[in-house]
Amino acid sequence: MDKTKVWGLVLSEIELQVTRPMFAAFFSKTRLESLDDNTAVVLVTNPLIKEIVESRYYPTIESLIKKHTHNKNMQLLLKVGGENKKYEEPGPLFYKPIENSLEKSVKYAHLNPLYSFENFAVSGSNQMAYAAAKAIAQSPGKAYNPLFLYGGVGVGKTHLMQAIGVELLRKNRDTKIIFCTGEEFTNEIINAIRSKNTQQFKDKFRNAHMLLIDDIQFIAGKNAVQEEFFYTFNAIYRRGSQIVFTSDRPPSEISKLEERLRSRFEGGLLIDIQIPDFELRSAIILIKAKQRGVDLQMNIAQELATQISDARRLEGSLIRLITESEVRKEAITLSLVHKLFGGSNKPRHALRSSLTPGSFISAVSRHFNIKTSLLKGSGRSRSIVLPRQVLMYLLRTELGLSLNEVGSFLGGRDHSTILHGIEKISLLLSNNKDLQTDIFTIKNYVGNK
Ligand code: ADP
Ligand code: MG
Repeated sequence: MDKTKVWGLVLSEIELQVTRPMFAAFFSKTRLESLDDNTAVVLVTNPLIKEIVESRYYPTIESLIKKHTHNKNMQLLLKVGGENKKYEEPGPLFYKPIENSLEKSVKYAHLNPLYSFENFAVSGSNQMAYAAAKAIAQSPGKAYNPLFLYGGVGVGKTHLMQAIGVELLRKNRDTKIIFCTGEEFTNEIINAIRSKNTQQFKDKFRNAHMLLIDDIQFIAGKNAVQEEFFYTFNAIYRRGSQIVFTSDRPPSEISKLEERLRSRFEGGLLIDIQIPDFELRSAIILIKAKQRGVDLQMNIAQELATQISDARRLEGSLIRLITESEVRKEAITLSLVHKLFGGSNKPRHALRSSLTPGSFISAVSRHFNIKTSLLKGSGRSRSIVLPRQVLMYLLRTELGLSLNEVGSFLGGRDHSTILHGIEKISLLLSNNKDLQTDIFTIKNYVGNK
């Protein structure tokens, strides 16, 4: 049976049942990966979409597949991505980009057009970084070079860095901007060295008007990469081209970073971005809602900002709110926010007062039946490591502690260990039901105590 055809038939029926924005957001990029006698595997582009499609449309899709394969035993399995493929951002619900040549040059530079200065909210925690980025967009190569932005997960480093690029392309579409992550940069160097093609690599990078490298900490510890990078940096710098880096920590705290690179990084302007406070989170939610054509009321944005302290989860939560209101044909109200994200009729201060690192460590210890001394200790057995990482994740996302604070609470671990732990849990959470339940139970326990 032709799977493309089957999937086409299924989609054409779904299209009749859901609104157009919903279809565009959740179904347009899906595909039927495989079809055998009893299983149809459907690929979706990211974990959030998977969650929504699974909870909302599973029965519909499965019955349509049964219908079009003429097979009553057919079962549906939803999977994220293809292997090794990066997750795509959740598709915009209502946003339709205009395809003009600026749009094209922005895409060509691998920049996200929505990551602009206008879409970036400013408050005390990121004001310096914003001002510096603006200054650079005004006069690249002259104001501060290099600019080194650092800070925790989800504080807006990537957004701000890309805003510089987007702004420059608006002024001049022919500006040669290279934006890549430290990891992509590393892979390119390694490939170039391996295929003895370093000249091409050199030409590409050294002719850039602007080099934006996101998460530069990744190159630490890789000697050949650092060496090549050092020469690239110097060549670009000497040309007077602007260089911007982001990192999850300042150069002084990146271990295994070559000294000469460290001093280059520190020779420019170093600025940290702090975790967004409540006001900034509210503003970010309002901006993101507006991009999706939704005029959110201030009190709703604030309630969401209260419930979701993890900056990375703000947008996903907003999408979920908009989607649920569409699906339930229900207006976006405070009570819908409470239904979806918990949150409460309890006075806020009562809720907050129980939230201390101590209450989380005892809840995790109780839930997994592991002594708190073991959680803080250095034991590396699997049965301890995962609960410990869960604890890191909760301290960071629920209490907003910095990586260093989490590290010192957990017996002096360094922040890269903490970051690794948190990222691991975030990744697992997207498809591990048991872990989702663990976290839910622990949070509930802490919140209700
Ligand atoms: P980081 O690179 O620091 O981990 P990102 O730049 O990826 O963080 O930001 C995560 C999400 O939060 C993005 O969707 C980004 O647009 C949004 N965001 C973060 N800070 C702001 C801000 N000040 N204004 C608007 N959106 C923001
Ligand atoms: Mg980033």
